[in-house]
Amino acid sequence: MISIRNLHKSFGDTEVLKGVNIEVAKGEVVVIIGPSGSGKSTVLRCINKLEEPTSGTIIVDNYDIMDKSTDINMVRTEATMVFQHFNLFPHMTVLDNITLGPIKVRGTSKKEANDLGRNLLKKVNLAEKDSDFPNQLSGGQKQRVAIARALALQPKAILFDEPTSALDPELVGEVLEVMKTLAAEGMTMVVVTHEMGFAQEVADRVLFIDEGVVQVDKPPKEFFSNPEHPRLKDFLGKVI
Ligand code: ADP
Ligand code: MG
Repeated sequence: MISIRNLHKSFGDTEVLKGVNIEVAKGEVVVIIGPSGSGKSTVLRCINKLEEPTSGTIIVDNYDIMDKSTDINMVRTEATMVFQHFNLFPHMTVLDNITLGPIKVRGTSKKEANDLGRNLLKKVNLAEKDSDFPNQLSGGQKQRVAIARALALQPKAILFDEPTSALDPELVGEVLEVMKTLAAEGMTMVVVTHEMGFAQEVADRVLFIDEGVVQVDKPPKEFFSNPEHPRLKDFLGKVI
């Protein structure tokens, strides 16, 4: 579903990604961890060209994102992003936040989009919030709306960039529950997170990014039980 080969990304003179390789198969959940500033967000942002890769190859569901003729809006629809700070449109209702994408990008009718949106709100346990505005919601509710909005695009994969890092601790669980459901339903997911419990329970593979490359790429059991890599050991010592 997603293939990243030898991805390099520099900001000015600083090379942040120095040859990143990641393969994500259909239905896989890949969790990415690593120190702050190690380039986790940059990897996700390169996948849908919110950042322009410096070099390398990225294929998303057969779209070559480095090919100038690729419709980048289609790539962003197929591999859609959920952000740490939700990025909801503040002037639009919850339902309109969710239906905008399908109407604009998929050409769905307003009525069909509203039906889809209401179903998705049920799915994220927010059925009664359709007419609310984002500022009337808690952080956990906002993030569940953002997930419903992502799902409304009927993406092939969802990229989560620290989806629970901005939440009060008591609201983290409700968002992780929704993400677990998606994983169980077979959604392809790439998740940058510090939630090690989620990684252990839900991930098919866990990746440790440090010093511009993927240092470790293993199933969670091996990843956590036997962290041989010294910098991973050090990192886990700080976060667990
Ligand atoms: P992480 O998500 O792992 O914390 P990021 O991918 O956000 O790390 O950032 C990796 C490095 O790239 C950091 O040093 C950050 O300051 C730098 N960086 C990220 N985005 C930009 C940008 N748009 N311009 C300049 N530097 C950036
Ligand atoms: Mg980040």
